Amino acid sequence: KQPDFQAAIPILKKIEAAGYEAYFVGGSVRDALLGLPIHDVDIASSAYPEEIKRIFKRTVDTGIEHGTVMVLDHGTGYEVTTFRTESRYQDFRRPDHVTFVRSLAEDLKRRDFTINALAVRHDGTIIDLFDGLADLKKHELRAVGDPHERFHEDALRMMRAVRFESQLGFHIEPATKEAITANAPLLKHISVERIAAEFNRLLIGIDRRFGIQDFVTTGLFAYVPALAGQRTALWHFSELPDTPFSGIASGWSALLFMLKLDPEPTLKAWKQSNDLIDLVSQTVTLLAKISMPTPWDLYTAGSRAVAVAGEVAALLEPNFDRQALAAAYARLPIHAKKELALTGRDLITAGVRPGPEMGKLLHQVESQVVAGVLHNDPKKLLPAAIEMSRERQ
Ligand code: ATP
Ligand code: MG
Repeated sequence: KQPDFQAAIPILKKIEAAGYEAYFVGGSVRDALLGLPIHDVDIASSAYPEEIKRIFKRTVDTGIEHGTVMVLDHGTGYEVTTFRTESRYQDFRRPDHVTFVRSLAEDLKRRDFTINALAVRHDGTIIDLFDGLADLKKHELRAVGDPHERFHEDALRMMRAVRFESQLGFHIEPATKEAITANAPLLKHISVERIAAEFNRLLIGIDRRFGIQDFVTTGLFAYVPALAGQRTALWHFSELPDTPFSGIASGWSALLFMLKLDPEPTLKAWKQSNDLIDLVSQTVTLLAKISMPTPWDLYTAGSRAVAVAGEVAALLEPNFDRQALAAAYARLPIHAKKELALTGRDLITAGVRPGPEMGKLLHQVESQVVAGVLHNDPKKLLPAAIEMSRERQ
């Protein structure tokens, strides 16, 4: 179900009726003001988690140690988080310990950028303590308060800045950018997983160009896995046409292909999922042969990698014929081994001894079917296979 503010207004009212404050906060407020679709409605409140649980019948403890309780209402869950400060920072990371406070201002002060520090009351009143509305209009990312301090508290915010730049098409205002440049080395203290979550979103944003360019000029790129020596190549990557990538697989494939980095070790270092590693590896292998792929190249790549390679090739080479690539894939006689009209069992029934030799035989049949040399017809494949097995002996 699409979240929306209207449906959540009764929740805010109910919290206020119980004597506490409650506001919409965070990314959904920002996105709604920009006219963008919103994902999750976040609510911040002066009520402590136990107090929220007393107000609502149905709640789930989704993150009670951080002050978050999920309120269930007509099948939708709303995260209500107690106002908090994160006063004691250690190691340039967000603290795992938070302090609950009763003041909205205190809560907004610890947020990263002014456009993320707006709060909206149930009647639509906007609380804008840091001129976030003006920055929204100017399309600017500005740290709340002193940017140096803020990046010292939590160095991930620097990656969030370039991520939002790409995601929203905003620019980082000069003092904030200067502070990122000065503090980029602090990124060393942040876990790869958290950096990767931001970088993935930078890759697929609508304004990748500026996001990547500031990732380079601020020096952040030197403190993430595998990209430290890649200033020039990253810059070339930033200059690709502005079409956004359809997903992180195309983003990473284009990046690693251009940077000539081996996908498997690189994406492992970035702690990406095995599924992504497989897909990007297949895609990059195919991209290396994209001007003249053999049927076998397309077959081994698989449908997803063919689609991703088509997208990336079209971005790298405007004249690339994506349709022709898709058509060549569609024309393959089979698309997976399970479609082969011959199985190991067929061979055993016909008297072939099971073992590695039989595996090689099946592979030979498969490649000849894919190449169009053999017709994928059981009546043809079995005799052909037996013939081949005699030849191999
Ligand atoms: P999106 O939903 O598009 O990712 P978002 O702004 O909602 O954007 P979240 O990570 O969901 O991003 O965070 C919600 C809010 O929490 C932010 O808008 C911001 O106010 C605050 N926030 C999140 N991470 C940080 C951080 N590292 N430092 C300070 N404030 C943060
Ligand atoms: Mg969010």
